[in-house]
Amino acid sequence: MSSLLLKDASQVVTAPATPMRGRAMRDLVVMEHASVYIDAGVIKAVGPLQQIEDSIDASVTVIEMAGKCIMPGMVDSHTHLVFAGTREEEFGQKIAGATYQEIAAAGGGILKTVRDTRQASKEELIEIDLKYLTSALRHGTTTMEIKSGYGLDLETELKILDVVQTLKKTQPVELIPTFIGAHAVPPGKSVSQYAQEVIAMMPLVADKAEFCDVFCESGYFGLEETHAILEAARQHGLKLRLHANQFSNNNGARLAVEMGALSVDHLEQISTEEIALLAGSDTCATLLPGVSLFLNYGYPPARQLIDAGCIVALASDFNPGSCMCLNMQLIYSLACTQMRMTPAEAFTAVTANAAYALDRPQLGVIAAGAQADVLVIEALHYGMIPYFYGENHVNMVIKKGEIVAG
Ligand SMILES: [Zn+2]
Repeated sequence: MSSLLLKDASQVVTAPATPMRGRAMRDLVVMEHASVYIDAGVIKAVGPLQQIEDSIDASVTVIEMAGKCIMPGMVDSHTHLVFAGTREEEFGQKIAGATYQEIAAAGGGILKTVRDTRQASKEELIEIDLKYLTSALRHGTTTMEIKSGYGLDLETELKILDVVQTLKKTQPVELIPTFIGAHAVPPGKSVSQYAQEVIAMMPLVADKAEFCDVFCESGYFGLEETHAILEAARQHGLKLRLHANQFSNNNGARLAVEMGALSVDHLEQISTEEIALLAGSDTCATLLPGVSLFLNYGYPPARQLIDAGCIVALASDFNPGSCMCLNMQLIYSLACTQMRMTPAEAFTAVTANAAYALDRPQLGVIAAGAQADVLVIEALHYGMIPYFYGENHVNMVIKKGEIVAG
């Protein structure tokens, strides 16, 4: 493993710790004219060169960083990356005014993706996903959660989780698999019948996933089914996360807190009471502004969540129906312009807090002893990322101490 000295950057920027809560999310550590020394995959020293040079090995590879920023690799803590096919025709139909029911009647929507994914081989899925992961990495994502959920049967859910296991070994983005058999209800089955099937899948998927998730929403999986599925998941050693409060308020956020889920995601329709509950808990509120942009509906109340003291993270929710976007820099920008998060708060939300949401406290910060997941940004100030939006500002990506892009 090589050692690297990233020498004399305009700024080295990091959240001070993982996680940060409420308005403390804006208390970034910004070191000007600082350097970062990396050895054996770990950050060994950070600070002005004259303070750290005694610790640096003579054989180090030196890379000049003048005019650039250094920040932690971004963590995308909510994606549905493994699926076959795309739905650009349906996108056009929706914009032209077609309703959800008309699209479903014409064979579109999530069930189209389920059909395509069931038909695809593992090799086909791997080929598609490698392209997506390469794009995400070039845009600065060094760690990503990936959910199953386009199988809705045991065979395909296992196939998706196997694809994630293969992708873990064949490309540099660190992947964390989540089982979400309860993503939708397959045609011809009742919710309670299918929830029982998902519970029966648990012992067979448990060693291929780290987390279990449920789409908790009226018309999908209600509180009772969600509780039963998550309880079964916990008994099989899986950690918990939840899709909740997206289209309606069904108290999913409360359930997530009560069950000790590490993250509850979406929250477009969260009540003041649930915000207070979340603020008093260790459950992370993960917001997905790319979905609000793409579906053209309201954004979650990021300001209220932060002002109340919640741990807030940001993620893409990359999926073919509601967010075809892998660019976390754009998600960062949307959080600022559309949800009024400050550039510093949103920085913490795409790094340290997103790492927390995936139970990876050693990621998401630049500090001695942290895993060396580092981005070099082509700017004098990190605030250029949300400000100069739609642009790829990433100049170099370092994962576990190795240069993997740029
Ligand atoms: Zn999702």
